[in-house]
Amino acid sequence: MKCARGGEFSKGELQRFGNIEMNPSAGVLNYGQGLFEGLKAYRKEDGNILLFRPEENAERMRSGAERMCMPSPTVEQFVEAVKATVLANRRWVPPPGKGSLYIRPLLMGSGAVLGLAPAPEYTFLIYVSPVGNYFKEGVAPIHLVVEHELHRATPGGTGGVKTIGNYAAVLKAQSAAKAKGYSDVLYLDCVNKKYLEEVSSCNIFVVKDNVIFTPAIKGTILPGITRKSIIDVARSQGFQVEERHVAVDELLDADEVFCTGTAVVVSPVGSITYMGKRVSYRDGGVGVVSQQLYSVLTRLQMGLIEDKMDWTVELR
Ligand code: PMP
Repeated sequence: MKCARGGEFSKGELQRFGNIEMNPSAGVLNYGQGLFEGLKAYRKEDGNILLFRPEENAERMRSGAERMCMPSPTVEQFVEAVKATVLANRRWVPPPGKGSLYIRPLLMGSGAVLGLAPAPEYTFLIYVSPVGNYFKEGVAPIHLVVEHELHRATPGGTGGVKTIGNYAAVLKAQSAAKAKGYSDVLYLDCVNKKYLEEVSSCNIFVVKDNVIFTPAIKGTILPGITRKSIIDVARSQGFQVEERHVAVDELLDADEVFCTGTAVVVSPVGSITYMGKRVSYRDGGVGVVSQQLYSVLTRLQMGLIEDKMDWTVELR
């Protein structure tokens, strides 16, 4: 789908996956004017396909577009385009229990612009790919390292929106961590260098004495849809959940830590290395709270339990 600056997106069309043409001075290539989203489709036992809260992705793209001076599709256009793309690719949705179809909506300044300014034209497209587990550990606990030098977001910056440049910012720390055998990096706030922010592509939760806490959303953390859903699921399961500043020292005596995201779902954290010291949780195994929340969320996403929240969208 295409749109001129200040205009509205026209009706889209389905195209075979392949390279796209791009003007060398496109806004996205030169000034990083791009946003993306990520959601998944699961196949149910009866063959139907479930999407999880696609309108939340649409809303997040709309608020990101505002920050990035871009027009964006309406919620309805976004959700309809996701549905049409998934249905056209339904044979790529893995069988139940064998993974999911990852859906990647992309919005970019595709028009040519030489001096720094928002692009004159925008493109919205969606591509899909079947996926399995995000981390090589599978559903086994992951190992994080706290990053002390590099930051993914600054106050007043773009950390709270899903813009492409945020991911360029994490590549260096993430690659270094992976080379040392860690699964991913845990970032701290760049002002106090003391409060937890998030992991390169997921949000973080800490459990202590059966109370669950997670860093509050304040512009430098992506408002994860899984995060928001897990907060509701945990409360509905009787847990107390707090959104607040979480100091890195609180990791030292936490009972359990887990990450949430579309790709990682709910990933238990087996250990965190902080200032060279490795802290293990639940003896490096899967924590009971993480296991319980993982189980409820995934069964909901796969249509194995009743969707009382009305979060899933079924495609036949
Ligand atoms: N933080 C970052 C930086 C991410 O890229 C993601 C993945 N979108 C998340 C958190 C989790 O967000 P969600 O649950 O919406 O996938």
